[in-house]
Amino acid sequence: MGRINVLPDILASQVAAGEVVERPASVVKELVENSIDAGAKRIVVEFQKGGTRLIRVTDDGSGMDRADALLCLERHATSKIRESADLVAITTLGFRGEALPSIASVSRFRLSTRRREDACGTLISVSGGKIHEVEDSGDAAGTRIEVADLFFNVPARRKFLRGEQTETAHLLQQIETLAVAHPEISFICRRDQEEIFRLAATEDLAVRLRDLYGEKFLKRLVVLTPQETQGVRVYGWMARPGEGRSDRSHQLLFVNGRMIRSPLLSQPLREACEGTLAKGLHPPAVLFFEMDPSAVDCNVHPAKREVRFRDPGLIRTVALQAARSAWKSLKPLTDHEFSPGVGTDPLFPPIYSGKSAVHPTWMPSDHSIQCELSEQMSGSSRIQETPVSDDPNSSGCALHQSSLSARYIGMLGGRYLLFEEKESLLLLEIRAARERLLYERFLSRLSQGSLESQHLLMPELLEVSSADLAWIEAHRDLLNAAGLFAESFGVGKHGVGSLKVDAIPADAATLPIMEIVVCLVDELRNIGEAPTLDRRGREVLAATVSRIAAAGASLPDGPEGAMMLLRQLLASELPYVTPKGRPTLIQLAPGELLRRFAA
Ligand code: ADP
Ligand code: MG
Repeated sequence: MGRINVLPDILASQVAAGEVVERPASVVKELVENSIDAGAKRIVVEFQKGGTRLIRVTDDGSGMDRADALLCLERHATSKIRESADLVAITTLGFRGEALPSIASVSRFRLSTRRREDACGTLISVSGGKIHEVEDSGDAAGTRIEVADLFFNVPARRKFLRGEQTETAHLLQQIETLAVAHPEISFICRRDQEEIFRLAATEDLAVRLRDLYGEKFLKRLVVLTPQETQGVRVYGWMARPGEGRSDRSHQLLFVNGRMIRSPLLSQPLREACEGTLAKGLHPPAVLFFEMDPSAVDCNVHPAKREVRFRDPGLIRTVALQAARSAWKSLKPLTDHEFSPGVGTDPLFPPIYSGKSAVHPTWMPSDHSIQCELSEQMSGSSRIQETPVSDDPNSSGCALHQSSLSARYIGMLGGRYLLFEEKESLLLLEIRAARERLLYERFLSRLSQGSLESQHLLMPELLEVSSADLAWIEAHRDLLNAAGLFAESFGVGKHGVGSLKVDAIPADAATLPIMEIVVCLVDELRNIGEAPTLDRRGREVLAATVSRIAAAGASLPDGPEGAMMLLRQLLASELPYVTPKGRPTLIQLAPGELLRRFAA
């Protein structure tokens, strides 16, 4: 006998489920997409225990007759395409006919459905892919699908599920995304018996975004005038200059109503922000791209998270133009409205902001200084690099705190300290230097316990999305270690969560609390699925809090303060870079100056 078997259907479905159903959130995605495809006007999503115990999606869409209800559980059964020519222009969210049988093969599954015109509906119970019962049902017109005990028969998959709160966060984020793509549908979401949000149908996308993410989120964005280039339409919102987050969770990019993660779309957005956003930050955006369905191939990813464009160059150009044009309508920056551009991070207002009397004179001029310097520097030596070889006298050698003969010259633009050191020029970036020093202090502190925190006299209530809220709840230990004490204060009826903040990292006390929270959450999320306080976790935590704290620190006090900062920096473990790799100190060697002034 040969060794090749054809897989039995159930096993084949379980294999397919491996691609389509990663976690409860993917079940929600498939079910809600089906409801949308079925023309639903109202969708209710209920779940228990992060969706692992139960997910129930109820819609008022077309429903199915009995024959279809039975058929939809067969592999490759779909009403959405008939022949391969249809694959060229897909207008529905589903088309593979794989979701329902896959989900049914790895759960206890119940489907209840009725078409408006039928007197009696159908209820089908399936367990691990086997149909157990087919009965009449008297439910309202539409479809209700229950998925209980996900992966109960696939222990290997079950093991990969995260804790309840992590799964809940993923699940909520998934519903939020679908709700943004379909403001015309009303969404209700319940966990156990508690209603998490109820979003009224609306024609105005802005209303939907406000309901979901709160007023403040919208205020950080500018509306894009809808535009069309060679058949590709784009509209939506783009971040204001200088607005950035360190992950892309606030980039919602849709192609023909389907949320897509693609560097082809996100890179041009980043590019448009060049010079206004610090490295590693991404501009939040909510953008809808619409084009002829035949211009995009959705059939490249099992969960349909990626697409292929017929003309990628065109899409890139459209995205870039759109992002750039969004800012044309903006008024010139004012210092309190937006953070100034040039490499600043909105989460870290410039040191002068608010409290300091120093005026932001470096607004335009700083840019030119910075460019000039970096051009000049490119040929010269950063301090940690080897000496410039053609000039033995150049002091490219490492500086030592003990043999330091530096003389303080002055401060430039409230941002740099200038020193003379054996005929060379030292430029120290104040914030970067502080970051390095604080980082080392925090890191050693964290290995002994947690960072100091400062109690707020009055707890502060913040608006955050329900997904962020769930994440925060799930990672309290980590946030506590950073000195942040915050807890959920419930979710409003529109789905905007309230976060009650009781204490913040002591060294960051001068910054707006919202920025501290947003920054911590964004950064810690990047550690990975289940961040812990291991070595890497501590490093990320220390780096994050040091960035926050350095941004809020005051300027060095006179020449003594300046000299002290330089000495402390040189005494640190890695004086010349911030934990994120930015330079803290640049040295212009005499050889370099000679060369520049040579005839
Ligand atoms: P696909 O969406 O790729 O067609 P699915 O396995 O998700 O595949 O669904 C199979 C079929 O079942 C769909 O094509 C549709 O005809 C039907 N169906 C699924 N969910 C619903 C629903 N909520 N309302 C009406 N019909 C549905
Ligand atoms: Mg489907």
